[in-house]
Amino acid sequence: MLVMKYGGTSVGDARRVRESARITLTKPGTNVMVVSACGGVTNLLLEAGNAAANGDDATRQRAVNAIHTKHANVLGGIGDETIRLQTQTAIDQLHASLDATLDDIATAQELCAKRSDFLVSHGEKSMATMMAATLRDMGEQAVAVFTDQVLATDDRHGSARPQPELTRERAAERILPHLQAGETVVCTGFIGFAPDGSTTTLGRGGSDYSATLLGAAIDADEVQIWTDVPGMLSADPRKVSTARVIPEVTYDEAQELAHFGAKVLHPRTIRPAVKAGIPVRILSTFQPTNAGTVVRPGGQSQRIKATTALKGLTMLTLDVPELEDLAGASSAVFHALHENRVEIISAQQASSRRAMTFILDTLASGCEVFVEKLRVSLGDLEADITCVDDIAVVAAVGEGAANTPGALAQLLAVLSRANVPVLNSSQQSSNAAMVVVVPGDAADSAVQVVHDGLIGSARTHRRSGGRRRDVLGETYRVG
Ligand code: ASP
Ligand code: MG
Repeated sequence: MLVMKYGGTSVGDARRVRESARITLTKPGTNVMVVSACGGVTNLLLEAGNAAANGDDATRQRAVNAIHTKHANVLGGIGDETIRLQTQTAIDQLHASLDATLDDIATAQELCAKRSDFLVSHGEKSMATMMAATLRDMGEQAVAVFTDQVLATDDRHGSARPQPELTRERAAERILPHLQAGETVVCTGFIGFAPDGSTTTLGRGGSDYSATLLGAAIDADEVQIWTDVPGMLSADPRKVSTARVIPEVTYDEAQELAHFGAKVLHPRTIRPAVKAGIPVRILSTFQPTNAGTVVRPGGQSQRIKATTALKGLTMLTLDVPELEDLAGASSAVFHALHENRVEIISAQQASSRRAMTFILDTLASGCEVFVEKLRVSLGDLEADITCVDDIAVVAAVGEGAANTPGALAQLLAVLSRANVPVLNSSQQSSNAAMVVVVPGDAADSAVQVVHDGLIGSARTHRRSGGRRRDVLGETYRVG
């Protein structure tokens, strides 16, 4: 059994919705669909919510109207009149609930995370309802299931963490019986429920994560992420014209790619699949017969497969005169980062220099303010702190290649030939990625030369890759 997830663009209008339904029906057996809200609807819901909180009725109404128009378009694609009218009634009810929620927000004059989660859930609920109806219109038995009854989470509204055991129980009650009865189950992506029963969300773009969580909960054979790009690419195609689809990546490679900025998968998506050993395939609804990228364990290739850049980061270096102070000083830094909710991209020690280097997510306060806070936490400890804004981390990803002796030297040589200044570099034996830190404005050229030097054009691989020609020859270009 497959779990097939369709993102916002793949359900963006009546034609895309029918195409996604058609793709689902080409697969044998009875399968689960997970759908995002119609493209743009989540943003419109948030816009309406913020407008309601600010008492801006005109903006609220404009956003609500835009949502109605998008939904009317999808409803218009349902040919059978009885099914269409029934579905219209269900959508009218969801729209009424949306209005009531916006009224609540207007009364509270505030869009809190809990209300916001319930508000945005209307997007996914509407789409699941319309997708199930579209499948019935195409002659299939199908039912919509709202996962704020199924996907258990904690109560961190806006970015909730899943509770797999309870999810498994709920899925056994609310999903499996439908599948056994031969019905395609259309689940809402993105949403779950907190211990108090209120609706939660998994964070923006969280529908992919829903798909792997649900896949693990019902022991799916494969999770398919149907999207608007043809798979994971060897680089950002807007930056590197020879970027191409990677046919296969390991779990570790996929996680490194997501961590270092490849936007294809929500970073947490892969974790439930890894635990359950379920392959995840990324496919395009615009080119449905292409093989896409499969993410699965093993399959090391001894090749660098992709390069990515994460920009807008900060590099913080801590230098202590006495080695004994390093642990204390580092602990103060970690503490300050934790307090200020700054994400650590990487942390590294150079013991000879008694220094620690931290690569951090953008500091909301900027370097100066943060360094000041840090000095306070350091107390009596003597330490030199350097903080550089606007740096980028460039990663070269490939399990079995990134950790071989000489690989980092080769990467640095390629960058040095192109005169890309390298501020820091790291390679760890356990990692599927090598990482260099470069100034932000050198990131694009770094990615380009790393791709040229270590990955090469599709043609190079076609020559050396023999049989894999078909898949590797799939060059992706934007525009
Ligand atoms: N609709 C949600 C969003 O736009 C979730 C998703 O599409 O994955 O963030
Ligand atoms: Mg998405």
